[in-house]
Amino acid sequence: MRQNSFKLITLIVCFVAACALIFYVSYKGPFLRKETQEVSSQAPFPEPEPEPEPSSYDETLVIQDGDTLASVLNRLGISASQAQEAIEALSKIFEPKDLKVDQEIYVVYEDSPDGEGYILKSLYFQPDIDHDIELTLTSTGSFDAVKHKKQLKHEHVNIAGNINISLYADALKAGASPKMLYDMIKAFSYDVDFQRDIQPNTEFSLFYDTFKDEASGLERPGELLYAKLVIEGKPYEIYRFQPTGGVPGYYTALGECVKKALLRTPIDGARLSSGFGNRKHPILGFTKMHKGVDFAAPKGTPIMAAGDGIVERCNPYGGYGNYICVRHNGNMKTAYAHLSRYAKGISTGKKVHQGQVIGYVGNTGSATGPHLHFELIQNGKHINPQKITQLPSSKLTGKLLIEFKAFMKKVEKMKKDREKQQMTVAHSGSSRLKGNTL
Ligand SMILES: [Zn+2]
Repeated sequence: MRQNSFKLITLIVCFVAACALIFYVSYKGPFLRKETQEVSSQAPFPEPEPEPEPSSYDETLVIQDGDTLASVLNRLGISASQAQEAIEALSKIFEPKDLKVDQEIYVVYEDSPDGEGYILKSLYFQPDIDHDIELTLTSTGSFDAVKHKKQLKHEHVNIAGNINISLYADALKAGASPKMLYDMIKAFSYDVDFQRDIQPNTEFSLFYDTFKDEASGLERPGELLYAKLVIEGKPYEIYRFQPTGGVPGYYTALGECVKKALLRTPIDGARLSSGFGNRKHPILGFTKMHKGVDFAAPKGTPIMAAGDGIVERCNPYGGYGNYICVRHNGNMKTAYAHLSRYAKGISTGKKVHQGQVIGYVGNTGSATGPHLHFELIQNGKHINPQKITQLPSSKLTGKLLIEFKAFMKKVEKMKKDREKQQMTVAHSGSSRLKGNTL
């Protein structure tokens, strides 16, 4: 009985084992095979070798005339579709069309796994001194574009010297920024005639702030805070001041706004060829009152509106030839004669603003050569435009004047601090030199 039970148990065990074996082979088999296949297609299991990294390259590209970001990436071997994705991501923070000629772009790219061309990994550039832009390929395969604002070092620049050639040439030689000089000349041009008043040895100085990127050495001028000219011993000083609630402008040390209602010379770089008053008429021969001033200038030189106003007349007018008359505030009018042509959009009734080009120098009407005949008319009476400095300008008063005086003191202090700094630098410079010679 015990022997039979033993046989039965052995039989059941064998049966179960056989069933398990059949089940295992028929169901588990394919998975086993697959696993084996996968393992064999990969690196051998016991000592896995690292997958070869795709070769990575970097290059600094320079935008040439006629280039687009797409064409540059394409030339590098980046696929059109990936270049398009990069441009789309970049467009969110920067307009790729705004890339300028000579812009440098640092690009990192690597071999494409299919062996065809390259994959763009990242690019970096500085569109202006204040920003840099970084575009990176993320692990998900999309591009991430970031714009960083750079920390620029704020400094003050103090430049002084004497005029030997011209303010522009001499101050530029002394290291002044061209933009600051442009601002300075513009601010002084209401009171100073740069062709007549500036004599050799006129003193100049200017003080402005600047923002420097120490990494690249690039510099961006800020604002012209102060400028001075000493003409025949007489100082002319201007301060850039923004009254509370107002717009920034240049003011004299007395708090008078330098900007006059009218420009004294409505033409750039012209020579005054004939003044106001009695003179012998160059064509008709008799003595006649010259009711304006003449500026000799080549045909086609732009003529600016002397002040804000409305064009009252814009048509040929007898001996004046092509003629424009502008009506300004305060019963003032200015007239411009002998024009070769009118500027686009200028006609009777049109609004013009100070400095806007309204026409071009010519010799229409009774003119011996190309020049601008310019008249200033106050309450219907012709007056000498050269005496335009007599015209009133706005002056700071009350609280604003107090505010301005405080600002002047602040600028004076900044100037002194900067001068001290410059002296320290010069001093340590000279001691270094001495040290070297010893
Ligand atoms: Zn004239």
